[in-house]
Amino acid sequence: MPTTAPETDHHEFCERCDRDTPHTVGIELRTESERSENVEFSREPYRVSTCLICDGTTALRMNDA
Ligand SMILES: [Zn+2]
Repeated sequence: MPTTAPETDHHEFCERCDRDTPHTVGIELRTESERSENVEFSREPYRVSTCLICDGTTALRMNDA
């Protein structure tokens, strides 16, 4: 089970910084398509990591089959 609690002591590679940097990581529900009539069913969990150095974010869809 993914946790929604942010990790504050997590390092991963940041393309903007071009090196490993501290990140916060959280789970976020994002709507896939705003035009969909079934918006409730088009929300997908994303793993969102935010670089603490440049404030850049990287979102990875978690339900990729
Ligand atoms: Zn960065």
